[in-house]
Amino acid sequence: KVFTKDEIRQDVKEKHVKFLRLMFTDLYGTIKNVEVPISQLDKVLDNKMMFDGSSIDGFVRIEESDMWLYPDLSTWMIFPWGNEHGTVARLICEVYNADRTPFYGDPRNNLIRILDEMKELGFTDFNIGPEPEFFLFKMDETTGRPTTHLNDKGSYFDLAPIDLGENCRRDIVLELEKLGFDVEASHHEVAPGQHEVDFKYADALTACDNIQTFKLVVKTVARKHGLHATFMPKPLERINGSGMHLNMSLFNKDGNAFFDENGDEQLSDNARHFLAGVLKHARSYTALMNPLVNSYKRLVPGYEAPVYVAWSGHNRSPLVRVPVARGASTRLELRSVDPSANPYLAVAAVLAAGLDGLKNKLEAPSPVDRNIYSMTQEEREANNIADLPSTLHNALKELRTDDVIKEAMGPHLYSNFMEAKRLEWDAYRLEVSQWELDQYLEMY
Ligand code: GLN
Ligand code: MG
Ligand code: MG
Ligand code: MG
Repeated sequence: KVFTKDEIRQDVKEKHVKFLRLMFTDLYGTIKNVEVPISQLDKVLDNKMMFDGSSIDGFVRIEESDMWLYPDLSTWMIFPWGNEHGTVARLICEVYNADRTPFYGDPRNNLIRILDEMKELGFTDFNIGPEPEFFLFKMDETTGRPTTHLNDKGSYFDLAPIDLGENCRRDIVLELEKLGFDVEASHHEVAPGQHEVDFKYADALTACDNIQTFKLVVKTVARKHGLHATFMPKPLERINGSGMHLNMSLFNKDGNAFFDENGDEQLSDNARHFLAGVLKHARSYTALMNPLVNSYKRLVPGYEAPVYVAWSGHNRSPLVRVPVARGASTRLELRSVDPSANPYLAVAAVLAAGLDGLKNKLEAPSPVDRNIYSMTQEEREANNIADLPSTLHNALKELRTDDVIKEAMGPHLYSNFMEAKRLEWDAYRLEVSQWELDQYLEMY
């Protein structure tokens, strides 16, 4: 819903809003915000708020640091918590340069740019239904720091009393509903201490905003329960990591453009071309879906995360699954994404990959309905099934070769991302792990 300025002013008065958080997302997917007292409301609504962008990661150099914040009035939201000093509301903003042109180092602006490209091709919406997973860990009672001690021993769809996270998860769902989220399901995930909350799909931009708000809510509520919520992709070895599957569908004025009643398996040519693009660019957008050194500890065989570039309508091991739902719910599920991804960058990349498939009428390979994990490497090669990159380093190398994905990031985000991630990889390379000591110290 787009709120008018007057509706917002009305809401401020009725609900005694005292502070306004102006939020945006940096290169790493971290929410940043400037908080202003409500006296600044008119300035905010008239796009007259300036801030200093020079210390935001991946933003600008010192000499061009003054930037504008343009609030997106459809993101108006009053927080149900933190009221002890007066009610707090938020607006998600687009970042503009001092000369009032859109700043494309803002990942959200960049996604808007790719969505405009989609609209030029005759589509109206790219809908995203995310399935974020996370762990709840105990806090250390003396230091107040998060630990990796689990607070339950539950597993998939378990019920209390095994699932001690249940109360916390319910509170999360209640808070989300207060904020207007349409929560469809929440359940204990496969790993102990691991949970999933699914909320209703939305257009790409809203869905990304929702993911950002969701993370904030999960962390805030968990803290109230004395727990630490983490979206780190693989916090513990030898149990499942946390993914964030993206269910994707493309709409035009006639409805779901992936559905064709008379198509093979009731999928349209659009769906097949889009899928082909998503598979073609999979190796090169992996760095965006899985941006941490730790992300690659999740993408290994045996833990329900994809490792190979393939699709299927029937089994869950491949990168892309086509759930059985048809009609308006026809969709592709991308299963590699993890919740450490910057959602705006991830969605821009997969959309650009799909649009490349559509523009060039790429043909998708045949589905793989066997368990890929039980195939030998020779069998995979014979079936043209590629591996996803195995490390952040390899993923960055792949990204460097793909002009479609580079274009989907734009030069500013691309160069900042590559630089930041190269530093992250170099820092990791300096470390000697406990595993290496255990393996080699005595043996050699
Ligand atoms: N946790 C798994 C992953 O890493 C997904 C498990 C599931 O949702 N079936 O992607
Ligand atoms: Mg799920
Ligand atoms: Mg899940
Ligand atoms: Mg799923």
